[in-house]
Amino acid sequence: MKSIAIIGAGVGGCTTYLFLKKNLSPHLPDLKIHIYESYPPPPYLSKSHPKSAPTITPSTVDERPNLKSDATTNVTTALGGALGLSPNGIRVLKSLDPDIYERIKAASIEVDVFGAQISSGRVLGAFPAGGERHGHGTFMIMRAALHDAVLEKVDQKDVSF
Ligand SMILES: Cc1cc2nc3c(=O)[nH]c(=O)nc-3n(C[C@H](O)[C@H](O)[C@H](O)COP(=O)(O)OP(=O)(O)OC[C@H]3O[C@@H](n4cnc5c(N)ncnc54)[C@H](O)[C@@H]3O)c2cc1C
Repeated sequence: MKSIAIIGAGVGGCTTYLFLKKNLSPHLPDLKIHIYESYPPPPYLSKSHPKSAPTITPSTVDERPNLKSDATTNVTTALGGALGLSPNGIRVLKSLDPDIYERIKAASIEVDVFGAQISSGRVLGAFPAGGERHGHGTFMIMRAALHDAVLEKVDQKDVSF
């Protein structure tokens, strides 16, 4: 039997797991892939996971309409900031699983331009962040929403928190 251990159930670890499951497991039926994560599971998984996470009280509640506003998401979006998912990253996730794509799209604000400005408001510059030629702009998304979207696709018996 062959086995692969992935250290860390972050965005990278979960995405690696999903890619291996999709592209390698069909060729190696007895392949075992397991993720080891040093932190407890996020709260939305804690009920179903044997090693239950401690209760976390959200310190901030994000009320932007594009982000889901249920209590669970408010807790998880409080863990970490936002990031910009560029068109190549979006294409990778779309090819991996259309459900993940739909979910991150619903949780994102899509932008075609990144700008930088100083506190006085003076704009320092702007650069393109995707667009029609790339099939997408850049998805601005809470890191935790992206993490939730990939972590939820991982078979929970294949991850130890
Ligand atoms: C301020 C900021 C802004 C950013 N903006 C962007 C952006 O706009 N666009 C973009 O693409 N990226 C951005 N990034 C980077 C992006 O957030 C990271 O590249 C991404 O989260 C990395 O994912 P990862 O899974 O590799 O690592 P992580 O998300 O750090 O996951 C690693 C996991 O491994 C676990 N772990 C570590 N060591 C062990 C161990 N020994 N045993 C078990 N588990 C372990 C950790 O607990 C963690 O859960 C930004 C980062 C920061 C800090």
